[in-house]
Amino acid sequence: MKIAKRFVFALVSFFILFPIPAQEKLTTLLKTNKLELIDVEEYFEANNITPLSCIEQHNLTDVSSIIPAMGRSEVDAAYVFNIYFHILNDTNGTRQIAVNEEDLLDAVANLNIAFNTFSIFFKYNGFGVINASDMGVVYFTGSNSLDSLVAHSKAANYYKEDSFNVFIASSIFHNMQNRTPIAGIANKPGTNCAIDDEYLLTSTFPHEIAHNFLLHHTHHNWNNSDCKLVNLNDYVEDTKPSVPYSSAHIKHDCSSYIGEQNMNNCSNSLQSVPANNFMSSNVLPCRSLQNAYFTQGQGARMRSIISFRWLELYEDKQNTIESLYEPVSGGYENGVYSPNTIPLIFQKGFDYQFVDCDNPTIIRESYAKNETPKHHPVNTAIKILQVSSKALKCNIEKSSRVYGGEIYSFGMGLGGNYKVFKLTTNEMENNVILNNLPLGYNLIKTIDQHGKKSSKMIFRLKK
Ligand SMILES: [Zn+2]
Repeated sequence: MKIAKRFVFALVSFFILFPIPAQEKLTTLLKTNKLELIDVEEYFEANNITPLSCIEQHNLTDVSSIIPAMGRSEVDAAYVFNIYFHILNDTNGTRQIAVNEEDLLDAVANLNIAFNTFSIFFKYNGFGVINASDMGVVYFTGSNSLDSLVAHSKAANYYKEDSFNVFIASSIFHNMQNRTPIAGIANKPGTNCAIDDEYLLTSTFPHEIAHNFLLHHTHHNWNNSDCKLVNLNDYVEDTKPSVPYSSAHIKHDCSSYIGEQNMNNCSNSLQSVPANNFMSSNVLPCRSLQNAYFTQGQGARMRSIISFRWLELYEDKQNTIESLYEPVSGGYENGVYSPNTIPLIFQKGFDYQFVDCDNPTIIRESYAKNETPKHHPVNTAIKILQVSSKALKCNIEKSSRVYGGEIYSFGMGLGGNYKVFKLTTNEMENNVILNNLPLGYNLIKTIDQHGKKSSKMIFRLKK
């Protein structure tokens, strides 16, 4: 009895001294489908879990050579990039944390919401799976690095040359020896990244893609021995200099830094750090998808990098503005709306309006960023408010494609009585109108397959 009591006491003490870490609990909840990926950030915040940080893979050693590119952005250009996902599975085709297409569409929506103020848009280009247990865990250096994943997927023809390629890993570590976990790795600049599955629907994903466009952390250069570089900070004028920090060093309202490293060697004051910035240290609630932003300077820098043609990195990853108006799947056959085929799925993250084809100021239906249109009403065209004020892709009702016309035959003098002859679709298509016109004045009114009306007067002198 005594022994049993001691055992229980020991067990209770064990759990008090060593409670199951909240992070482990989160992983278990995700694995058992008791929590969705979309709720991860909220769970981190509610349970005071500090999210993992990322690591950048510098693909240019001489970053200073990029600086002259600033300010060369093509002011009006809108950039649309295809984005493709590789889900890294175990060899048997399963994975511990499920990732489905809805998650991927949510991830692309988060990108569009974060980047579209800078006219940078993303078009979901699908996903593939790589079933190989030894590839599911990614390392920053050594075996199964991001570069080796890219090389493998190219060799196996999985890689999409026309898209940004995102590898969704089960875990990411520094290397085989240093197993400090990492949320994501991105080529900087580049079009590839790897992300820990738990972080797919957190601020880490826009953060990694911003690294692809050569954005640095806001604490970049903070501890450089060269004070000029410390003042240049992340090469963006409107982001405040900052140290890397943890949640313990940030006021809960994210307004200021309260750590001890409040002055660096170059006397930069660091009381107010850009805690809500996508490129700052990952501390919640500051850098959440709800709160995080890129500054105008960061947006301008990304656009400069994209338009800086010698990089040529992004050229073949681009799509058209019109592609954003195409659904992810379903809905149309040969450009004509066919609602009875595969269900219509549009990308999330935009404000959609379905407006009258002839009068785009008349809004028939509208959808907010977290909703998606499930159908395309007849005689409406699509407006995406974040993309353009123009409406595209008018859905013409199939029945209106039965078209025809009328001939008003006045005889030799206008102004008197006239006869009306109906024209059938067949007569219009076989062009028999002109051969059979009555003598004299004939007003021909037609309506074509697009519902467009036109009229013209023809005078026939002789048979
Ligand atoms: Zn980063």
